[in-house]
Amino acid sequence: MLSISPSRPRTLVQATLLVLLSLAACGRGTKSNADGDGTGPRGAAQATIPAEIWTEFNGTLAMEAVKQQVALGPRPAGSPALAQAREKIIASLSACGWTPEAQTFQADTPYGPVPMTNLIARFSAKKGQAPDLTSQKALVASHYDTKKFTTISFVGANDGASSTGALLELARVLAKDPALAAKIELVFFDGEEAVQQFTERDGLYGSRYYASHLRESGRNTQFKFGILWDMIGDKDLTVTLPLDSPKELTQGVLGSADALQARQFFRIFDRPMLDDHVPLNQIAKIPTLDVIDFEYNAWHTADDTLEQLSPASLQTIGAVTLHYLSSTLR
Ligand SMILES: [Zn+2]
Repeated sequence: MLSISPSRPRTLVQATLLVLLSLAACGRGTKSNADGDGTGPRGAAQATIPAEIWTEFNGTLAMEAVKQQVALGPRPAGSPALAQAREKIIASLSACGWTPEAQTFQADTPYGPVPMTNLIARFSAKKGQAPDLTSQKALVASHYDTKKFTTISFVGANDGASSTGALLELARVLAKDPALAAKIELVFFDGEEAVQQFTERDGLYGSRYYASHLRESGRNTQFKFGILWDMIGDKDLTVTLPLDSPKELTQGVLGSADALQARQFFRIFDRPMLDDHVPLNQIAKIPTLDVIDFEYNAWHTADDTLEQLSPASLQTIGAVTLHYLSSTLR
């Protein structure tokens, strides 16, 4: 007990370490130094923007974010655990310079009304200013809820957490290129999972609400395309693109997969999928591709745990998506 350090210096050291870690985690150190040192115009910051930004996506960091979601346990819509998941997502986005918006609504489910919240994140190309709502040209989305089970503990490591963690890593990387980040809207959907079973009215609550709202606002017309991630962490990665995927977008993403020697992980599935891309395609009229690996034996079982996942799979999807984003939007 005599060796105990005075509490204040120790707290200071810990606080400093945390700040350093979060700067490293966001890559904002480079950006804010270049922006804020007063030695030159904003153009000076451009020199630090990675030309091959897709090489910056780090599967290990993505996996860390996945683990944080899974550690909260089952995260069904309306649960306190999902509220905690939301807080983590908001904190992570904010730390990287994104402006998160909580889009809250009441979903009419077979079990009655459930409060749900989509998280939407935007980036300003101009430091210190609010994001321009007209600058976004592409969506990248994931759902962050997990399916509710009463018989098993379902933590949705792949189904919910994998794409959510990867999206946070995507946010970290995009922040290195503010002009590119400003062209992208990140969306974390609540209520993807059906409360009972998928029907026209049960499931896809968040994406249906978001797509309707986007259409009513007229903002849907500014988007050229959307990419949805779902179940992208399986160590045995096989992306099964739905049969009815938008053609041009599919070819473009497969072209990026080719360019990164990752084409072998992608194939066209033998049928359409019912997922969050459907309301984006049908209601918001934004051509959206569902990047999903539906060859997953642990789907909706207690075995959907971290052991099934690999950082390499997250990295593959992150890099291919970033390659496509940067080649079409830059
Ligand atoms: Zn599911």
